Amino acid sequence: MKIALPLAACLSVPILSAQLPRADRARVLKQMDDTAPHYGQLSRLIWEFAEVGYKETKSSALLQDELRKHGFRIEENIGNIPTAFTATWGSGAPVIALMGEYDALPELSQEDVPERKPRSVGAPGHGCGHNLFGAAVAMAAITAKDYVEQHKLPGTIRFYGTPAEEGGGGKVYMARAGAFRDADVALTWHPGSENHAGLGSSLANINAKFKFRGVASHAASAPWNGRSALDAVLLMNHALELMREHVPTETRIHYIITKGGAAPNIVPENAETYVYARHPKMTVLDGVWARVVKCAEAAALATETKMEMEIVNSVWDVLPNDALAALLDKNLNAAGGVKYTPEERAFAEKLRRTMDLSSAPPLGSEETIVPPQVMRGLGGSTDVGDISWQLPTAQFTAATWAPGTSAHSWQSTAFSGMTIGRKGMLVAAKTLALTVLDLLHDPQQVKLAREAFEKRRAGVEYRSRVPALQGAPLTYRDTK
Ligand SMILES: [Zn+2]
Repeated sequence: MKIALPLAACLSVPILSAQLPRADRARVLKQMDDTAPHYGQLSRLIWEFAEVGYKETKSSALLQDELRKHGFRIEENIGNIPTAFTATWGSGAPVIALMGEYDALPELSQEDVPERKPRSVGAPGHGCGHNLFGAAVAMAAITAKDYVEQHKLPGTIRFYGTPAEEGGGGKVYMARAGAFRDADVALTWHPGSENHAGLGSSLANINAKFKFRGVASHAASAPWNGRSALDAVLLMNHALELMREHVPTETRIHYIITKGGAAPNIVPENAETYVYARHPKMTVLDGVWARVVKCAEAAALATETKMEMEIVNSVWDVLPNDALAALLDKNLNAAGGVKYTPEERAFAEKLRRTMDLSSAPPLGSEETIVPPQVMRGLGGSTDVGDISWQLPTAQFTAATWAPGTSAHSWQSTAFSGMTIGRKGMLVAAKTLALTVLDLLHDPQQVKLAREAFEKRRAGVEYRSRVPALQGAPLTYRDTK
């Protein structure tokens, strides 16, 4: 198996020797191989539940039960979010936060077969692999706890059940409620199509619904009496299209029309467009967003309609952490890649025939570790970003899908429900468990993580762009 150069060597971050003894490491990894079928089953159940953001009742309860059974103290309803919870074991410093997600995506229902076949047409599915995500983090928390209990190490392990990552920003509101106040370090991972730990970031994101209100009228007999809210939506979106040329290059702007009127023969009284703007830096995005709002105001002025903006959510870009990335990379290499059986390879081959593979690497018989790189792609946005500006935070990717698979696709739902997904999940859980134990074994690592955090933060103060008194958007996935 090809093992990449440890990240520490590239970044000159010292990896101290007071870490977990080698024999203990081997024992921990062996224990995880033994318990893998159980946690694989847990991930499969969450995959079948396929609950969207803030509706993850069964998924959240399943993970809570598992953690409770292993002696974790559960705290529910964090930040007034019914599906958010924490599960804590141990006491005192350092407090290691492990963040697990479990929300599914609308309309991505899919059987674990290599051709398009929804389990239930139009239903949600785990196209971002968050079923593997939550189960792997629970597995890591429980495994690390077993070791800490046995060896009487000081410190606290806390699993954060963080709902609605897909656009609902659960972590923003959990942090606002003080759930991370005493945490020293936060760790997480994400399913993907390669094994990779590095200094990747994500896009800061502000999104809002722009609601226009006009005057209804008969569209044929008295159109002059009407003021069309739909016209305002079209005008605003056109203004955004023109603005696209004049914003910083890495900006992303996208929208959907969420309300366009009731019938063609009625001048639309109400219309609504739902807009996302993103940029690698929140500080730059602030300026872009101010102009998005001007487009809305101008559209209302021109069409003599009223405009109301409702910020749905906002997340920060991820602030990487050099010290934690180095530890994760070392432990990802210790966990190793995955090997596929001939059946899994055939499954992946067949699924890859349904994808655009122009920029995808070939399919091997195993997924190895990709060498760390300082920056990779623009990617999407995540509420991990908000945590990363409040305390030292790091995440990595494990290969739960074949190379070339897009997140948020039916193909990724298929992989996330079968053994290829579960093999990647085990790599992730092992990497996390070893990293928690390194941090608890050697408090100096926690100090290095804090130093790396302060250095990258460079004095920028975190403040969420969601209005201070606004709660989590618990109904954002509601369809009328
Ligand atoms: Zn995701």
